[in-house]
Amino acid sequence: MFTIAKTEASRGLWPVLKDSLREPEAGMVMVDVIAAGICGTDYHIYSWDAWSAGRVRTPMTIGHEFVGRISAIGAGVTGFSIGDRVSAECHIACGTCRFCRTGNAHICEKTSIIGVDRPGAFAEQVEVPASNLWHVPEGIPDAHAALFDPVGNAMHMVASAKVTAKDVLIVGGGPIGLFAAAIAKAHGARTVALQEPNQARAAIARSLDLDLVVSPRDPDSTDKILELTRGQGPEVVLEVSGNAAAINAALDLAAPGAVFALLGIPSGPVALDLGAKVVMKGVSLLGITGRRMYETWYQVEAFMLKNPALMGKVITHILPATDFARGFELMDEGACGKIVLDFASLKGRLPQ
Ligand code: NAD
Ligand code: ZN
Repeated sequence: MFTIAKTEASRGLWPVLKDSLREPEAGMVMVDVIAAGICGTDYHIYSWDAWSAGRVRTPMTIGHEFVGRISAIGAGVTGFSIGDRVSAECHIACGTCRFCRTGNAHICEKTSIIGVDRPGAFAEQVEVPASNLWHVPEGIPDAHAALFDPVGNAMHMVASAKVTAKDVLIVGGGPIGLFAAAIAKAHGARTVALQEPNQARAAIARSLDLDLVVSPRDPDSTDKILELTRGQGPEVVLEVSGNAAAINAALDLAAPGAVFALLGIPSGPVALDLGAKVVMKGVSLLGITGRRMYETWYQVEAFMLKNPALMGKVITHILPATDFARGFELMDEGACGKIVLDFASLKGRLPQ
């Protein structure tokens, strides 16, 4: 089978032909992958930054956002049949720790991640625990269904920050920020502004019909956001850039009492004037990781069923899986929204 793997501890990813997988173990299912999204995490592993060099053991098949059909079922699995179309939560939590047992499996410290710590979904087949599967309803197209995971990140952030009737600023218009903007609108935000320096991505944000799209390089961007937010600044900030300067500027701009949700991962420690910008302003900082299992999944399913046009605007490229290198080049250039790899078209075209 065709896989996309990290075979060397250096920048890049390589196509690898592997034997088809054996029968799944007890509690596991085999999924024939139809489509898989390229995530920022995959890009980190492709670039071989300090985080991935410290975490990923080569050789490793990567990829964790996917949809596919069940092709084999291990002993003891109930509720799933061969042929079912499924996606899966990529965080495999331990299920027994205090966090898992109190409904907070997204912060389980023993989490193993598909495509990071164990073989991933950039492959014709992936083996996953049945407990992590999600049945995808017929009304959701494959390219959208592959994206439960990143749309779930955005959903978890928007739902945690409670945006209804609020002036919302999204900092960073990468795929997750763009999904967050679409979701914030759907959740009844009073206004949604998005800040993004990359013009290609700002253009995608404009196509979502937001109230304001600004570049941090525009000297009038602060005035434009203040004007939109009745002179007070945003009541909710959704930080999805990971950029230290942007985090500081948005904390300055946030209204007193604002909720400031952080999902973007800075490349290192960030210096903040906590006294002036957080304590004295009564700002609530929220760290956002993963997706709530499985509350977020219900929310994402409802969003995808209701908003196929918004989903379609953020997905800018669907590439044959064999053209994965082009996908990573597009991400290098920032000339894309979300990129999805098509694995279904491989069937019968490559040696098995
Ligand atoms: P991305 O890198 O594609 O998007 C980040 C965007 O921020 C880019 O479009 C970039 O141009 C923009 N940006 C840079 N400087 C900016 C500035 N000063 N102001 C506004 N925007 C600026 O990444 P993504 O896939 O959309 O993910 C967003 C972030 O979330 C990344 O940092 C990623 O590592 C992180 N992430 C976190 C989780 C989690 O569970 N917490 C999960 C997935 C991704
Ligand atoms: Zn746990």
